[in-house]
Amino acid sequence: MSYIPEMFASLVFSEDVMKEKLPRETYKIMKKTLHEGKRMSLEVANVVANAMKDWAIEHGATHYTHWFQPMTGITAEKHDSFISPVDNGNVIMEFSGKELVRGEPDASSFPSGGLRATFEARGYTAWDPTSYAFIKEGTLCIPTAFCSYSGEALDEKTPLLRSIEALSKQAVRILKLFGNENVTKVTTTVGPEQEYFLISKEMYEARKDLIYTGRTLFGAKPPKGQELEDHYFGSLKPAVADFMRDLDETLWKLGVFSKTKHNEAAPAQHELAPVFTTGNIAVDHNQLTMEMMRKIAAKHDMALLLHEKPFAGVNGSGKHDNWSMTTNTGINLLEPGETPYENAQFLLFLCAVIKAVDEYQEMFRASVATAGNDHRLGALEAPPAVMSIFVGDELMEVLEAIEEDRPYNNKETVQMKIGVHVLPKFPKDNTDRNRTSPFAFTGNKFEFRMPGSSQSVATPNTVINTAVADVLSRFADRLEGVEDFESALHNLIKETITCHKRILFNGNGYDESWIVEAEKRGLANLRTTPEALSAMTMQKNIDLFARHKVFSEKEMYARYEIELENYCKTINIEALTMADMARHDIFPAVSAYGAELAANASAKSAFVPCNAEVELLRRMAELTDLFYEQIKTLEHAISGAEKINLGKTALAMYYKDKVVTAMTELRKTGDALEEITATDFWPYPSYGAMLFSIK
Ligand code: ADP
Ligand code: MG
Repeated sequence: MSYIPEMFASLVFSEDVMKEKLPRETYKIMKKTLHEGKRMSLEVANVVANAMKDWAIEHGATHYTHWFQPMTGITAEKHDSFISPVDNGNVIMEFSGKELVRGEPDASSFPSGGLRATFEARGYTAWDPTSYAFIKEGTLCIPTAFCSYSGEALDEKTPLLRSIEALSKQAVRILKLFGNENVTKVTTTVGPEQEYFLISKEMYEARKDLIYTGRTLFGAKPPKGQELEDHYFGSLKPAVADFMRDLDETLWKLGVFSKTKHNEAAPAQHELAPVFTTGNIAVDHNQLTMEMMRKIAAKHDMALLLHEKPFAGVNGSGKHDNWSMTTNTGINLLEPGETPYENAQFLLFLCAVIKAVDEYQEMFRASVATAGNDHRLGALEAPPAVMSIFVGDELMEVLEAIEEDRPYNNKETVQMKIGVHVLPKFPKDNTDRNRTSPFAFTGNKFEFRMPGSSQSVATPNTVINTAVADVLSRFADRLEGVEDFESALHNLIKETITCHKRILFNGNGYDESWIVEAEKRGLANLRTTPEALSAMTMQKNIDLFARHKVFSEKEMYARYEIELENYCKTINIEALTMADMARHDIFPAVSAYGAELAANASAKSAFVPCNAEVELLRRMAELTDLFYEQIKTLEHAISGAEKINLGKTALAMYYKDKVVTAMTELRKTGDALEEITATDFWPYPSYGAMLFSIK
């Protein structure tokens, strides 16, 4: 497979390509822009744009687009060709610095939460040189940020970039205190593991719910689910292996470090994990990964489901966001060190994360709040809706020893003193990894397991970065200029552990008893999206983002509105789809089956008793009547939403309390009907057929 290194990133305008294609001076300036965030002049941008265009045309591109991430969760693009008319009706291929640096898509059809007044519907996209341009399907894609004309963020990338900067600034302050004079920048490293389901395209197309909502709204349990635990890490089916090979090749060409692929816990569920990279690029790459995996599955006659809960009663899909911080000198700040001093630095960064998660726990929860993710969080599967941190037994003992001024594990004769004692080596223990924790320390990084499989990880990362930046800034304020640094550090760490140990939990996060315990500890349990999103209106959170210039108060409220609106729209579409399926497909089917049972019974009854038919017919009739009533209840709930005029918060609550409840009831009856209806009559492929549809 020696061709992989050549193929890798062959469609990326990477630093290597820049070095080859740009004049030396331009390359130098470009590097400064990339690594130090220095602005470049329009003249330099012109040179870069021209080189980019020539390189793109060499690789078959005819168009370019500013590639951006509006708050729809998916990426947006508007393609322009490079052609420019000249005399005699001919064209030349052109691409200017101005076109590279700034674009003006018609912003009016993207969500803005009221930020973009209708009289000024324009927004602009601005080149993000820290994420490389690439060629996708014959188009040169330029990663960009998307803002309103007055500079407010209308996308996911702008706040992410701001939060990375905020974190860098504060982390560098702390590192100076430890004598790291040559650290000038800290970036985050992110590796998002992506879960998804694969089913046959034919079955997908036979289900309106999958087509319109991405998840099944009806579906009785299959005879075989995941109870045998025979899917996880099982060998790949040939069709799946083919798809994955194709996907890997596509992603590699785009410079995505797709690394690990395996089956997940549920039948038809799989995972793709990339090698981690810098936070900004990782987010872009994950967006690309989601787009390409869907498209390539379609080419292989499969449908790829990214929804958090496509099938009830079967594991949902998440996106584990592995996160750490690294210096420009290459040091992972969450890697326990070798010397007492390195250990102390590690412990301080660790404590900063612990404090950040505890203080801003509601905001962490809000960053993953979507209608789809409500089926995982708070439903006693996957991670719970309560934020907590797993640090493992070993590290927990260290933290407790520090807090209580006692020797660690009785192995040391004197008490743990930070900056004096060497920490024990924590083995990266794979066996007692706690898979139920929403936020787990896994040796040299944290793994945030709450994000949903379909969401962009930009927002969760923005929240982690900003919350940690905030704590670091307070730590730095306290430590800068003290006379006895070691004692001050020791006290700060000790105090942090005492104040925030309530967020540490190594037990089983799925357990009901934890929910009770968490409540005693005063931890928030925000089970649904409307409840969780209210965190965005909490003063401490508004202040947090304003302090670090990540979101202004106005931007925060705009985002709150957009998220609420997304929730309401999602539930509304689901409810309408469900009512449509119930009324137009399921009801006629069960009615027809009932009629056949009745006809059979009456034909047979002249000759033999037909107790079975009669019993079944009764049950069918009972359920069918109930089902019909519940359709009406749901339809009534849907139309009731129009009468709610107390604002978006009230509307979201209405959808949660009235519409979701009506949907749950209707589904129960629908599934009970499916269980007793003859296969030939049921209008949709069953769970069993879908989950085992790929050979
Ligand atoms: P798993 O959690 O499935 O057992 P690993 O712990 O090996 O797997 O890694 C999961 C993900 O974490 C991978 O995408 C990997 O690249 C990423 N990762 C590893 N180290 C870091 C780091 N320092 N920062 C961010 N992500 C990391
Ligand atoms: Mg993992």
